[in-house]
Amino acid sequence: MAFAFHILGTSSSGNCSLLESKGTRLLIDAGFQGPRLETSLQKLGIELRALDGVLITHEHSDHCIGLPALLRQNPLLKVYANQETAHRIQATQKIKPFWQIFETGTTFSLGATEVTAIPIPHDAADPVGFAIDCPAEDHQPARRVTWLTDLGHVTPVVRHHAALADVLVLESNYDDEMLELSKRPLSLKQRIRGKHGHLSNIAARDLLLSLKEWQAVELYLGHLSKECNRTVIVDNLMQEVRATKSDLRVTVVDPLEEDPVSLW
Ligand SMILES: [Zn+2]
Ligand SMILES: [Zn+2]
Repeated sequence: MAFAFHILGTSSSGNCSLLESKGTRLLIDAGFQGPRLETSLQKLGIELRALDGVLITHEHSDHCIGLPALLRQNPLLKVYANQETAHRIQATQKIKPFWQIFETGTTFSLGATEVTAIPIPHDAADPVGFAIDCPAEDHQPARRVTWLTDLGHVTPVVRHHAALADVLVLESNYDDEMLELSKRPLSLKQRIRGKHGHLSNIAARDLLLSLKEWQAVELYLGHLSKECNRTVIVDNLMQEVRATKSDLRVTVVDPLEEDPVSLW
């Protein structure tokens, strides 16, 4: 089974990705309600019981609301989270999965892959991003897939990990003007814009432009707000980034897209 990475969906209303590497199949988050997760995996010819584990970034529902349904179908599924996140999810969802507890900032093995849990600034108990090292196989090189969404600002650790990714998924949550003009209550606007909220399009672009040397060849902009963002706005902003890095492929993931965005 060769390397494959499928973003099944990433937006404020649901996040889930599937990574396959040398026989290991794992999900990053399980934030879909209803049958969408199973349907998405079926489209890829994968059954729920074929999963080796689920990595959970944090306890917000758009990242873990699908866990109970997943566990009903596969009660022995290993769910990887740090202690604080596991505690919050267990308390609200009334589930008792086969927790695999990791410590934020450390690296652990998950099948053929090595996973590093990256601390991120967000208004959750102990939120993380992930850098997943996938070994070389057949004619494919080793690759690092890095997932960085749900962050209020860019920290030195985030910058460090963004630069080391081969495949980078970065949050580009909102357009400043659309957020300002939206009918959302002021408190919510302040939360989103806050140091522990979400990354704006401008902040995502500025992070990428500020990287002196970075190795990503695939960049996905994700976790777009359906109300306060448009793919065309993000795409236009990324022109400057494309101009600085000719080998880079940029994909803005449409929050309305229900089909997987795949890298084989
Ligand atoms: Zn989220
Ligand atoms: Zn969140």
